Amino acid sequence: MNWLTKAIKFGEKIKKVLKKRPSKKDIENSDWTSCCKGPVLKKDLEENLWVCNSCGKHHRISCKQRFDIFFGKNNYQILETPIPSEDPLKWVDTKSYKERLKAARIKTNQNCAVEIAKGKINNIEITAGAINFEFIGGSVGAAEGEAIIYGVQHAIDNKTPYIFFPCGGGQRMFESPIALANMTRTTLAINELKKNNLPYIVCFTDPTAGGITASFAMLGDIHLAEPGCLIAFAGKRVIQATVKEELSPDFQTAEFVEKHGFVDRVVHRKELKNQIGKLLSILLKKNTEINSEIKNETSENIEPFAKTAS
Ligand SMILES: [Zn+2]
Repeated sequence: MNWLTKAIKFGEKIKKVLKKRPSKKDIENSDWTSCCKGPVLKKDLEENLWVCNSCGKHHRISCKQRFDIFFGKNNYQILETPIPSEDPLKWVDTKSYKERLKAARIKTNQNCAVEIAKGKINNIEITAGAINFEFIGGSVGAAEGEAIIYGVQHAIDNKTPYIFFPCGGGQRMFESPIALANMTRTTLAINELKKNNLPYIVCFTDPTAGGITASFAMLGDIHLAEPGCLIAFAGKRVIQATVKEELSPDFQTAEFVEKHGFVDRVVHRKELKNQIGKLLSILLKKNTEINSEIKNETSENIEPFAKTAS
């Protein structure tokens, strides 16, 4: 066997190995995912609310998984939100925006990145919204803007608090100015919520960045955040290059942002329902069991919120 035959055979072997590698779709459909200690069964992770037992990483979840955890399974109703005309700019880059939308809908089983639901916590009617990162990076376009505003209107019409779990990189570039206009539209909508004296609680999830941070997500009466999540406007490298200073390793994490006053408290996913329920009982001055429980509690945990509420 001469060197040429050997080289060709070696090349064929490599091709075979490469072919055996799982595709992106195989990975998505697999029962396994990965975290700090290597592969972990999705089923085990789900039982732990998609939080890693070893490192505490709060994995990204879909809107339905979020509502399942927040309201309890089958304890809420997803509201149908308006879908404006698609692809207004007829955007095409490596593929068309329409194709991207179609793929995202199949992947997530959602019409747009935002879902709005109604349900009850501590016997308090709530309107809640969440963003799914798997839907084109959780970016906000016209449909997402409409959904967020629909949620606000639903909260105003039904006099409920509005709880939002933002996630995503910002406004959707495939809709350029139309997406950007939704920063203003959602901001104005939140103002209407405030004029009606309805509580608006935001819980940041990983990652919340760009136009989402610069509009409706930073306007909460109270800001909670899941541990370790990224909360940013511009990226760390951009800021570092601008200020020409070394930034701390925890820069733009929930804990860092909490230390600097933009987040009121970092809360573990399993505690969110309980904490938000208590906050709402205080804010709405509800005489629920929880409220009498709070009166008896000497926990300093509740103290700063009680002050905020008053
Ligand atoms: Zn882990």
